[in-house]
Amino acid sequence: EPGFADRTGRLESPATIAMAVRARALRAEGHQVLSLALGEPDFATPRAVIEAAHQAALDGQTKYPPVDGTPALKAAIARKFARENGLDYRLSEIMVSNGGKQVIFNAFMATIDAGDEVVIPAPYWVSYPLAARLFGGVPVVAECREEDGFRLTAPALGAAMSSRTRWVVLNFPSNPTGAVMGLADLEAVAEVLRRYPQAWILSDEIYEHLVFDGARHHALAAVAPDLASRILTVNGVSKSYAMTGWRVGYAGGPERLIRMMTRIQGNATSGICSIAQAAAAAALDGPASLIAEMRDTYARRRTMVVEALRAIPGVTCAMPQGAFYAYPGIAGCLGRTSQGGQMLRTDEDFARALLEEQHVACVHGSAFGLGPYLRLSCATSDDVLVEACARIADFVSGLR
Ligand code: PLP
Repeated sequence: EPGFADRTGRLESPATIAMAVRARALRAEGHQVLSLALGEPDFATPRAVIEAAHQAALDGQTKYPPVDGTPALKAAIARKFARENGLDYRLSEIMVSNGGKQVIFNAFMATIDAGDEVVIPAPYWVSYPLAARLFGGVPVVAECREEDGFRLTAPALGAAMSSRTRWVVLNFPSNPTGAVMGLADLEAVAEVLRRYPQAWILSDEIYEHLVFDGARHHALAAVAPDLASRILTVNGVSKSYAMTGWRVGYAGGPERLIRMMTRIQGNATSGICSIAQAAAAAALDGPASLIAEMRDTYARRRTMVVEALRAIPGVTCAMPQGAFYAYPGIAGCLGRTSQGGQMLRTDEDFARALLEEQHVACVHGSAFGLGPYLRLSCATSDDVLVEACARIADFVSGLR
């Protein structure tokens, strides 16, 4: 019977999706499942943004848009980069895609040949290694350790770099750890990057607004302007404006890379939904108060969850400085048996048993390249978070 391309063998389904699917099945069986598995803001898209989309549709913005984005949205993105990041991208250095995800696909498809290495700090967002492998790339991990606050250090990056490095991926604030890189951290990393002029640098700054305790986000291209001709700054409206379903992401970068990515996107999907682009422009030009409100909510929930987790014997938890995840360590729980009779050898065993026995869905850290940890998304209501932490405490107290 008809078969599939070799490359599909490199396209595993992410663990995040697998946990969500199992959670949905348990829910369909009538269980009250608490899902902390997905990184999806629980806020509504701002009303003014929805109204801008409505108006755009009524105004006839319903035709094929330019492949690289509407002039209005690109101008709003340029203003955003200048205002919030101190970056001066010209319109020819900006493109819009179907989410940050398609930006990354475009960039990798445009540049990766079989065997090219893609350096990815771990723990990482699973889509980076999956996309790299899809195009024949070889992910190379640079480990970010808990004792370094899960930040990337210059020695760890240096050890992962080689003459075959095609890309270095930076994602701070980090999914899954919430680590934020300070100015000095980024300067040290830039020093390493300068030694490898053949490598592109992807700086995924999609969580930039979600930083807590007075921490500040710095755009890599602003910290190291001499590297800007190699840096692709990736961002989007999904996380900052609670707009995951609108599918609008964007990038600023060197014109020749943007041009090649645009050519690829034109062949794959053409331009992005014109109405969603009008909405994204309204979001970027809109008031910053919504962002501040979301940030304060996530900061408060994070503290609540981390404190609850720290009170559980056998569980440790660093205090994330950004994003909306907690990343507790569960080494102290392994080698024991759950009440349901499951021997917990790995963090994956833990996450599966927790879902089956306590109906709490989260994702094991080793799926993100660093175990034994769990990733809990705090982008859900306080009630759910409190109850989930109580169930985790129950689960752990039942271990033998
Ligand atoms: N980058 C990171 C680190 C993410 O966690 C996500 C979403 O989970 C994205 C990019 C992509 O988001 P979107 O495609 O919705 O813009």
